[in-house]
Amino acid sequence: MHAHIGDLRSPRDLHRKPVTVENLITRLNEEGIDLAVVLPWPPCPEAVEFPGLFSEYPDIVSQVRAAIRRPDRLIPFGNADPRWGGNSASTDFSWLLERFVEMGCVGMGEVSANIYFDDPRAVNFFRQCGEWDLPVTIESTGPGEGHYGFIDDIGSPHLERLLIKVPDTIIIGHGPGFWADIGDGITIEEKSGYPQGPIRKEGAIPRLLREYPNLYADISAQSGYNALTRDREFGINFLNEFQDRLLFGTDVCFGDEEGRTRHLKYLKKLLEEGEITKKAFEKITYRNALKIMKRYHA
Ligand SMILES: [Zn+2]
Repeated sequence: MHAHIGDLRSPRDLHRKPVTVENLITRLNEEGIDLAVVLPWPPCPEAVEFPGLFSEYPDIVSQVRAAIRRPDRLIPFGNADPRWGGNSASTDFSWLLERFVEMGCVGMGEVSANIYFDDPRAVNFFRQCGEWDLPVTIESTGPGEGHYGFIDDIGSPHLERLLIKVPDTIIIGHGPGFWADIGDGITIEEKSGYPQGPIRKEGAIPRLLREYPNLYADISAQSGYNALTRDREFGINFLNEFQDRLLFGTDVCFGDEEGRTRHLKYLKKLLEEGEITKKAFEKITYRNALKIMKRYHA
């Protein structure tokens, strides 16, 4: 549910290798992954230090076009910034969403505008995505300068208000600001990072998953991996309780070996050890994804 193509390097990691359609498919083959959702990037100025202007696929539409050429392996999402269309809370996004749907996009993301989740511009945008049957993957962070993603406070009150305001939109949680709240008692710095150690009391995310059927969670990236593994027993219980709501993804941003992630290996290990059932494994790795991507037809 979470792959990228293009040049996502910041000036600090110019030694890394950009992701191409070719090296992405090679990696999928090596890891035994049949299909990957391509989340085009970047939708907003805060998502990157510098936009990937010199990339082989420099913008959202060129990444969608590259992905639709490989329908056997890649599933495209569209992307947008809720502030587009004049930075208004009543922008009509249907023109844009219709274009994406015509191109074959089956969702939107990762949407990462650096505004509060329940900002009226965000609510307007998420509501319309739901009307077009497009689930939305979000990037999230705590407050403060230099971060990107939707902003929230400890306990995810802004995300909760958004979930209430757009009950017909499927929202796929992702990113440090989301996963930090798996456990209670984090600091404001940890809200934008990777809190460590055992979880003594659950945080907002398990409760939100229980209370709001329109919330799903993408386990990709260091944020998802850390949340599931910082307290092994808690993580296993979480995977089991929310096996109908979790979505496997990697969020690999570079084409080299060092960028690879451990998520699939970890899920396979838990399956082997009998900590999760085959049924749960299949739901998390693909069945839930197929269920929520209503516009996707293999
Ligand atoms: Zn990503």
